[in-house]
Amino acid sequence: MSSQQKHYCPICNKELEFNRRYPNYVCHDCAEKANDINGRKIVLGNISIFGGYEAYFADTKEKYDNHICYINGIKCYADKARFGGIVIQTIKPNSN
Ligand SMILES: [Zn+2]
Repeated sequence: MSSQQKHYCPICNKELEFNRRYPNYVCHDCAEKANDINGRKIVLGNISIFGGYEAYFADTKEKYDNHICYINGIKCYADKARFGGIVIQTIKPNSN
């Protein structure tokens, strides 16, 4: 395991486990700070124990029908993770 790659949260630089499938994923603390483009807090979660992506506004519980979110002003993409839960990754400016 000595050759294991390191991964750092692209938002706060916290050291995380490297995940080849999600090379730009953010840590749990940052995931909880997700906002929409206007700075409204978004809650991300699974629709059921079987997964499925769901997001809604923290204040009104209104559905947020979008995978794009912002953490500390950095554009991110949120989606369901392969083994349950939600994964948020930063979007590099030179890719889509
Ligand atoms: Zn972080």
